This record gives sequence, structure tokens and C-alpha cells, in this order.
Amino acid sequence: MAYIGKKETYAKIIEVISGEKIPVKLRQSNVSSLRYEGKKNQNNVITKVIPECITMTANTDLNKRTIFQFLTKEQQAIAIKVSEQLFTICHEIGHMMTLPGHNYSEIEAEYSLHHNTPMFMDQKQKHYRTIKAEAMADQWACDWIESHLELALALDQQIIKMCKFQNALK
Ligand SMILES: [Zn+2]
Repeated sequence: MAYIGKKETYAKIIEVISGEKIPVKLRQSNVSSLRYEGKKNQNNVITKVIPECITMTANTDLNKRTIFQFLTKEQQAIAIKVSEQLFTICHEIGHMMTLPGHNYSEIEAEYSLHHNTPMFMDQKQKHYRTIKAEAMADQWACDWIESHLELALALDQQIIKMCKFQNALK
């Protein structure tokens, strides 16, 4: 069931979408993330996001699309057109694109409130996607997919092909 994928393929796709070369790490976990350095002004507003690394979860299932269930109905209608991996890539790039202009302390406070609030697993995942920075990244991902649908589908084919090939070898 696990889809590993190749770092190089993900990195190329990320470069096509974001216009930047960003190192990629693959990890056996259910969480993908963007590590970045945020430049801030004296008011603690993020002025620039310098991406350091995108970590891709290596064990999502192309058909399960587990993160999609926590999106809004409008977002789901767009996200469902691509694999979870491509959506995840767009989401992480979405963080890069949407954080500038926002107050760093407010962003951080929302995450720590989330982490410190006891919730059941499903409720926690659902709540996570309501965090402003996460919701902005989801929306950026959907907007990008919708406005570049042909390219998105072509990039997604590369992911699907790579994953199927790798799984055939197991
Ligand atoms: Zn995120």
C-alpha cells in the first residue's frame, strides 16, 4: 500500500509549480510539511518565505485521499481531480505563497492553541484545516489546480506512473 516515489520527480514537479528549486525529503509518516525561513519586518509581519525543504509523506494511498475529507465541499470538488500527493505538493507550496503579509506571532499562536487543545483524532484533523495558515494553503492549492488544470493533470500522471512502477517492484 505504501507509495514511496522519487525525490527527484517530486522536486521537478515542485519546481514547475513554484518556480523554485527546493530540496525534497521523503518520510515514512502521515505528515507532509514545508520547512522555511520567514523574513519578518519590525511588526513581526512575514515579508518573505525562503523555502528550505519540503517533506513528503511516503505512505499515502493514491486512491484513499485521506486529507480531502477535511476540505470544504467546493475545495473537494477541485482536489478530487488530482492525487493526494499532487494536492499535498500544491498545499506546501501554498504555504510559501500565502504566508507573506501575515503576522508571524498570530500564525504561531494559532498552531500552539491547536496543539494544546485536547480533541479526538478526527476532530483534531478537521480543526487543523481551519487554522488560518492551513486554510490559506488549501485554498491556494485548489486555486492553482483549477487555474492550471491541464498542467496539474499532466504532472499528476508522472506521480501516478512513478508510484505504480515502484509498487510493481515490491
Ligand atoms: Zn500545511
